[in-house]
Order: sequence, then C-alpha cells, then structure tokens
Amino acid sequence: MHAPLTTGLTLMRQTLYMLNTNAKATPMKFVKLSQSEFEEIRKLYEGVMSQACYGLFFREGMILGEEIAKIALQEPEKYFEICGNLLRARGWVDNVVFQESTAVAEGSIEATQTANGAATCHRLRGIVRKIYEAQQHRKMHCEEIECVSKGDKHCVFKVEPIGSE
Ligand SMILES: [Zn+2]
Repeated sequence: MHAPLTTGLTLMRQTLYMLNTNAKATPMKFVKLSQSEFEEIRKLYEGVMSQACYGLFFREGMILGEEIAKIALQEPEKYFEICGNLLRARGWVDNVVFQESTAVAEGSIEATQTANGAATCHRLRGIVRKIYEAQQHRKMHCEEIECVSKGDKHCVFKVEPIGSE
C-alpha cells in the first residue's frame, strides 16, 4: 500500500500522461456513470438478451483495458501500480492488487447486493484480462472466481495463459 500523498502525486502524473498520449488530438473527455445506473443498464441488457450480454460487457472491458495498459506500459517497471491507480482514479474499484495469477479488487463499481448469487463484474474481468495480456504478450483466460455480488469479501479474478492446465 502507498501513502496517500504518494498515490495522489502518482495520479496527477498519470493524468498528465493521459493527456500526453493524445498530445496532437483534443484532450481526453470522460463521462461518469453512477453505480445504480450501471446496475440498471445491466438489468436492461439482461432483460433483452439474458446472459448473452455478459460476453458483450466483457468485451467492453477489454476495450477499456487496452487503453489503460497502453498508458501503463510507458513505465513498465511500475506497470501494475499504474494500472491500479488508473482503475481507482476512473472509479472502477476502490482498490485492486495484481498478483502473479490473480487480481483482487475491493469496491468494484459493478458489484451489487441484488445479483442472485452470480458474479457481476464482467467489464472489470475484461479490463483485468487485457492488463495481463499486454504485460505478458500472450492470450490469457480470465475468470471471476469470487465476487462481492456472490457474498464474497472481494472480487477475485484468476488469470492464466490460454492452453495451460
Ligand atoms: Zn465482482
């Protein structure tokens, strides 16, 4: 864990990096969604296409993870730290720890109390997958094995190379 001051400074620097990567374009714009809006959107999609929407949310996450990974790769020795800072700064998690084959998230925006015992952090799963793929330069399988929506304490993502047993 980092002291709050250090984290704040790191976040400021990464905001600058985000602008730098787009130096020739207009500055990056963002939109904010509330947790309850996220939940309503998930329910809307579930109502239309049932569980098939989870794969789409997952792919949304991979798009988001691609950009986060690109920014973090500018400082490879701090790669996971920067990924974590960006995920916090953008509101996806309250905290996340990347280990060798698992990522443990606290306070996922996609977690909910009303999920009928199923994992719900589909976008975050896509983001986590991309973060590991970009770092390891190979395709990874990513599964959410524990989720706050299932009553677990944290959301835990297991990541392993595709094809390994
Ligand atoms: Zn979760």
